[in-house]
Amino acid sequence: MSLKQSDPKIYEIIEAEKQRKREGLEMIPSENHTSPQVLEALGSILTDKYSEGYPGRRYYGGNQFIDEAERLTIARTKEAFGVPYANVQPYSGSPANFAVYLATCNVGDTIMGQNLPDGGHLTHGWKANISSKLYKSVPYHVKKDGYIDIKEVEALANEHKPKLIWCGATAYVREFPFEELSKIADGVGAFFVADIAHIAGLIIAGAHKSPVNFAHIITTTTHKTLRGPRGAIIMITEKGLAKDPELAEKMDKAVFPGGVQGGPHNHQTAAIAVALGEALKPEFKEYGKQIVKNAKALAEELMKGGVKLVSNGTDNHMMLIDLTPYGKGLGVFLQDALDLASMTVNKNTIPGDPSSPFYPSGVRLGTPAITTRGMKEEEMKIIATWIAQVANEIKNYRLPENKEEIKPYLKKFREEMTENQTIKEIKQEVLEFSKRFPIPGIS
Ligand SMILES: *Cc1c(COP(=O)(O)O)cnc(C)c1O
Repeated sequence: MSLKQSDPKIYEIIEAEKQRKREGLEMIPSENHTSPQVLEALGSILTDKYSEGYPGRRYYGGNQFIDEAERLTIARTKEAFGVPYANVQPYSGSPANFAVYLATCNVGDTIMGQNLPDGGHLTHGWKANISSKLYKSVPYHVKKDGYIDIKEVEALANEHKPKLIWCGATAYVREFPFEELSKIADGVGAFFVADIAHIAGLIIAGAHKSPVNFAHIITTTTHKTLRGPRGAIIMITEKGLAKDPELAEKMDKAVFPGGVQGGPHNHQTAAIAVALGEALKPEFKEYGKQIVKNAKALAEELMKGGVKLVSNGTDNHMMLIDLTPYGKGLGVFLQDALDLASMTVNKNTIPGDPSSPFYPSGVRLGTPAITTRGMKEEEMKIIATWIAQVANEIKNYRLPENKEEIKPYLKKFREEMTENQTIKEIKQEVLEFSKRFPIPGIS
């Protein structure tokens, strides 16, 4: 019996999500469209098996094929990134980063990471995250121009002598200064960890420099530019093994049984292997390079259309629209208006944001998913024109100063946008346009 027959409710939800994706443009830079082959492995019976432990040393019997899948995933990771060690079991990026803390720090040690409102990740020491409760977090910042403030990092590291320094972000449009930050970390004897969650695919494609010669540890998610299933990998470099020869054993123990995980998600591991297999093919190099070409083209056209961008452009797959020329806290307005026009982006803080993380003044968008659909620079011009037109429709709105007034104001805004003729027309154009670019995993 098909899912359609046995469980029509969930079947309909999946079909509706497929349609949403087919008829719109996914521009959240942390998302992508996986291949049918990745989905096939992910939907396989490998999900049935318990295999706590590691290949050749499990707590359950019957793992001979699971061992093969995990070993293959590890081997492909080593080949793709040029590292001597990999753990492919982390459920996702956040638990992977937690395992890194467990392997390298004691509770109470000082750690440094890019501040969340400056584009950093929750797990790098943000105040609402456990990483700042178990460890003493000293965040560093980006300058007004959008680049990491290296001088500040150096001064803070010398003052606070952290045990670990993170490099990596969820909203950073410039190339990461791995070399400069690694020198600072080495100067104070800290572990230097590159969290390449967003840019792993770009690194494999040669479209962003690799941290392999600079970092001790590298973590990555597998579902962003790497275009695999949701998941994560922890790598240790030669430099990391030289700093601590026992780091590999410590890391394995930190992932399991030391951390937040139980049995590995074997269907996910196998699907990661499939994604890495795809990433090792020459076509993926073209894909990764095209992501960046598209991002640069989109950024260029947006700026030509009068849209302001943080740092005036991009080196990678994403850009940040700065809406402060119109007013503060307008990110949600542009996000919602674009949503109504079938373009999915997310509101985001910008460096030195005059508003709050819940009502930030920027919007983050990127090109990994639309590049997967085969779009090129030509298409970026069209998309940029639509975004600039939508931005024009929201610029006269103002986030109320009085908190009580925000909700009703936004409700009214959404009603007006739903009736807005320009938005309606763009939505129709996006629909026609999207049909020309099928999504690999959706038949
Ligand atoms: C996305 C991301 C993560 C976390 O990934 P989840 O899989 O959502 O837990 C960690 N670090 C960075 C820099 C990220 O962008």
